[in-house]
Amino acid sequence: MSIAATSETLARQLALVIDLNVCVGCHACVTSCKEWNTAGAAGPLADLNAYEAEPSGTFFNRVQTYEAGTFPATQTIHFPKSCLHCEDPPCVPVCPTGASYKRAEDGIVLVDYDKCIGCSYCSWACPYGARELDAERKVMTKCTLCVDRIYDELLPPQDRKPACVKACPTGARLFGDIKDANSEVSKAIRERGGYQLMPEWETQPANHYLPREVVSVSGRKMGMTANTGQRQLHADDANSPEPVVQA
Ligand code: SF4
Ligand code: SF4
Ligand code: SF4
Repeated sequence: MSIAATSETLARQLALVIDLNVCVGCHACVTSCKEWNTAGAAGPLADLNAYEAEPSGTFFNRVQTYEAGTFPATQTIHFPKSCLHCEDPPCVPVCPTGASYKRAEDGIVLVDYDKCIGCSYCSWACPYGARELDAERKVMTKCTLCVDRIYDELLPPQDRKPACVKACPTGARLFGDIKDANSEVSKAIRERGGYQLMPEWETQPANHYLPREVVSVSGRKMGMTANTGQRQLHADDANSPEPVVQA
């Protein structure tokens, strides 16, 4: 492990690639993540007032659902988000104890609970709100990319994947090495316009999203631009009289 791994020195960078076309917001990834990690090396994850009016707790993965566009041309978008395992993570250098680190061998960003003092500096430094201070243990937590699962040789090879990837009923979550040009995730990013969340922060998020391809009522293909969130007609439909819909 190393705290000095950067986008220049990493030979391997594991990541999730999430297809926003097929995520249906079922939360299977959320619950499978919670189940695996609360019982695994990263747990237990706090679960407070679970059956009360105001439940709260620690989750490594959340799905945000929102409506885009102007009525009646609106879409419901489900947006899963967990730690993006940035190649240049601002959460690492701010940690005063060295608890927050990035592994040189696979680019996974982790927290050493034994060193964490719960100061939350890393949480403030993360532009994505991906870290959660566990209310019961008072340590910082986040997605581990299921590091205690993906290398477990006691599991059959087909199960050595993150719990959320295995649970997704629509196959919206891909997992692999984005530094390997021939991996499934690299091909998806290359061929389907995979994009990083808020690249202006220059954190080089390893996780990517595949933009939505929307079919309009007239059957023509439309797409949503990565940076603006605006839906636009595809280039071969440029002369179409159908108006561009603002998200
Ligand atoms: Fe750190 Fe946030 Fe990037 Fe995860 S998403 S590596 S917590 S800056
Ligand atoms: Fe480091 Fe823990 Fe403080 Fe985060 S909360 S900066 S991991 S000591
Ligand atoms: Fe949770 Fe593992 Fe998926 Fe990360 S990779 S969101 S820890 S299930």
